[in-house]
Amino acid sequence: MNPRVFLVLALLFFAGGIFIWQQGWFSAEEAEEKTFDQILSPSPFLEELDSEEPEQEDPRADLQAEPRGMGVAQLSEPPTFFVKPYLVYPADMLMYPAYEAAVTEYLMELQQWYLGQVGAAFQMASLVVLRHPSRNYLEMRCGENPSQECIRDRSLLEGNWAQYMNEAIHGGVARYESGGPHWADHTAYLVFGAGGGGYAGANAKGHEGGWAVVGDWVLEPISGVANEWGIPCSYSSGWQCEDGVSKGTPAHELGHAFGLPHPGEEYRDSTIMEWHGGYPEVGFLDQEREFLRVSPFFVL
Ligand SMILES: [Zn+2]
Repeated sequence: MNPRVFLVLALLFFAGGIFIWQQGWFSAEEAEEKTFDQILSPSPFLEELDSEEPEQEDPRADLQAEPRGMGVAQLSEPPTFFVKPYLVYPADMLMYPAYEAAVTEYLMELQQWYLGQVGAAFQMASLVVLRHPSRNYLEMRCGENPSQECIRDRSLLEGNWAQYMNEAIHGGVARYESGGPHWADHTAYLVFGAGGGGYAGANAKGHEGGWAVVGDWVLEPISGVANEWGIPCSYSSGWQCEDGVSKGTPAHELGHAFGLPHPGEEYRDSTIMEWHGGYPEVGFLDQEREFLRVSPFFVL
């Protein structure tokens, strides 16, 4: 083949591969059918979290194992790890423009807070605002077969909220496996789900990626706008929507998405990972800081 034609074809193939990889149409990791273990709590206002310690693998191990032969050097560059923030609405409900502005501002604050606490910044994509393409709010709040009690009591959140957030982000296609929703590797999803009330949940797989989901009791305090069709702070006990707790919730859940567990009750006053109400004064334990500094999500 003419070398020039070959070069053009090779460049087109490479560019196409990068595009598809960025769009997430294909991911080798997803094809491997890895699952996140997830414990689902029936209570909407309690945090959902795997009680098991996340695997703590060497984040560089995979990268070092990649082939580095001629012609594939560019394709085997280390994968980029990003925090990807989303603001998700049900299919049938009005959006609050104030939420987008407040989340955007809060995310900058959060990134700065992590930088100050860890000495390194995580890489973050732009906020994406979207609706679930098919599920309405009643279905998301109460599940596919809503109980009469849930229909009547708008403070109840009985649907599989994390799964619906996962679906919304993936174009409405159910992407979950037996262990729970499946989320792409190399990504820490930080999802603000309007209508999610006091929901707070997270999980991770070592340093490889994870997800964090919060709801109305974060959105209302950071924006000053109550979700009239959702589960506003008037349904909380009050303390959940106080500044330190509401702003500390995504900080804490994102820590889980990065792979940090709860260290134990004795560290309640020492780390955001045990009690999120101490935000922004409280930070991380030394070992947590070190965990984050070697995480591929962070750039020193
Ligand atoms: Zn937690």
